[in-house]
Amino acid sequence: MIRKKISSSIPSFFYSYDTNTPFSQCSICNKFFNDSSRYFIEKVFKQNIVLNKSEIVYEYAICELCATSMSDEISEESKISITELYEAHSENLLRKIDYLHRTEKYSIDSWVDRCSMTGKEVRLCDEYAVNGIVENGCLVYEHTPIVISDDFVQKIQEVLSKETKDTFNDFKNQITNVSPSVEDLIFSPSPSIF
Ligand SMILES: [Zn+2]
Repeated sequence: MIRKKISSSIPSFFYSYDTNTPFSQCSICNKFFNDSSRYFIEKVFKQNIVLNKSEIVYEYAICELCATSMSDEISEESKISITELYEAHSENLLRKIDYLHRTEKYSIDSWVDRCSMTGKEVRLCDEYAVNGIVENGCLVYEHTPIVISDDFVQKIQEVLSKETKDTFNDFKNQITNVSPSVEDLIFSPSPSIF
């Protein structure tokens, strides 16, 4: 059983890179978050091999309404494929989540050190994405935060239908200029959003 722990704040890891404060509005509809908002954050990192550190390349926050409307546009076919893909790799994820909850490791570092699905360490990823959920101004530890490595994103891309890829491309365009090299990582859909 997956437990749920709501932290007492938002770790700075999930702050907006530009302002170094929590995200204040939805990156798609621009609506401001309030104290009772529930929203999703995705950050995409690139590994700087020379400096041996992760650098942010893209991030956004999305409100529940926008996430729902995005989810509604994902084809049934793609939803089934994505769910099957996650289920096929869920052993690693469930073991890790169970361990983190059992040992009450509610510090962000323990959750974002490696790919939640494949176990690949983030320092070995060229690129990776991290997703988190905020409720009432606090980070939720449940089945997220989750890390998706470049390897797993590739697997997701392979199972998405053309319609779904088009949908994601539309959303990406709403968010703004995204470098093509990280495009595939953005909106790496996880079952947590639908
Ligand atoms: Zn929105």
